[in-house]
Amino acid sequence: MYKYDYLIVGAGLYGAVMAHELNKAGKKCLVIEKRNHIAGNIYSEEIEKIQVHKYGAHIFHTSNQKVWEYMQQFATFNQYINSPIAIYKGEVYNLPFNMNTFHEMWGVQTPDEAKCMIQKQIKESGITNPKNLEEQAISLVGKDIYEKLIQGYTQKQWGRVCTELPTFIIKRLPVRFTYDNNYFNDRYQGIPIGGYTKLIEKMLDQIEVRTGVDFFEFQKNNDSIAEKIIFTGMVDQYFNYKLGALEYRSVRFETEVLDCENYQGNAVVNYTDAKVPYTRIIEHKHFEYGTQEKTVISKEYSLEWKKGMEPYYPVNDDKNMQLYKKYKKLAEQEEGVIFGGRLGSYKYYDMDKVVEAALEQVEKLL
Ligand code: UDP
Repeated sequence: MYKYDYLIVGAGLYGAVMAHELNKAGKKCLVIEKRNHIAGNIYSEEIEKIQVHKYGAHIFHTSNQKVWEYMQQFATFNQYINSPIAIYKGEVYNLPFNMNTFHEMWGVQTPDEAKCMIQKQIKESGITNPKNLEEQAISLVGKDIYEKLIQGYTQKQWGRVCTELPTFIIKRLPVRFTYDNNYFNDRYQGIPIGGYTKLIEKMLDQIEVRTGVDFFEFQKNNDSIAEKIIFTGMVDQYFNYKLGALEYRSVRFETEVLDCENYQGNAVVNYTDAKVPYTRIIEHKHFEYGTQEKTVISKEYSLEWKKGMEPYYPVNDDKNMQLYKKYKKLAEQEEGVIFGGRLGSYKYYDMDKVVEAALEQVEKLL
């Protein structure tokens, strides 16, 4: 007989939703987590009374009413709307690409003028059917915006030239011909008051969780502890990289407490010039309209993932997707194991999509 119905590997958002739902359905669950804290990469920690997003900024946004209502059980969300700015060689631009950006770039005022400018630049570039991120970006917003706001940032974030990256990465960002700086098109948006860690704590409050436990070590002595395993770690690592290693991007943060009340006037400031070594600076208090005397900022440096680092972003280019397909086949054949989350399914998921996927998976299991 098994001691648990489910062993859930990873206490991030996917694992926590699965554990919560399975437990609610009467299944006995054990969650193990390699790090010494829960919440995965949405983990937040209080510094100077400010919720600091330790593994990068997370803004919850969704158009899925069911997912939004689901999340309300675990936290109250504030009214934060993400409106990052981009700085290129001292020039300041609004994001995402909208009439404010077009005005700042070209001095145009009307949507027609902006469209005309973009059309002219697309025509000059000769692109008809965009095949990579560079061509896709120019097709959406023209060459000037591509060169000042996309090219350098993207190459820093992905460590690859834009001609070798898939188009879908840039299609994540809205392009609109209205004066609207909301980074997302989604119907619902906000940051959980009290922080993400508290939210995950609430999801897991009825469940046995062991942190600081590495699955591969644990497995050696607990081979048959649970009937089924939900694995949210790296799919290639699960199979001991036997088909080769998938590539991931990692992020390094330099976090500082500053003795000033307001450092940059915005939560997110992107530095789009390739020569600035970091991709963005996050000033955490602005996610919650903080009025503390001090502030906490994090400079974000993007780097290639190597063993021992935390993986953040799957590199969904052709080469990696080919390899992932093979791992996916293995994963499907792996009896009693379900793979999920950003790492388990090697997918550039937003949080709402993670919740959606977990809820769907639970439905299948029950
Ligand atoms: N991007 C860009 N310039 C920016 C912000 C984003 O070129 O100032 C591009 C870049 O290629 C990035 C993609 O848009 O990888 C998606 O950005 P998003 O903000 O969605 O990235 P995330 O928040 O997931 O790190």
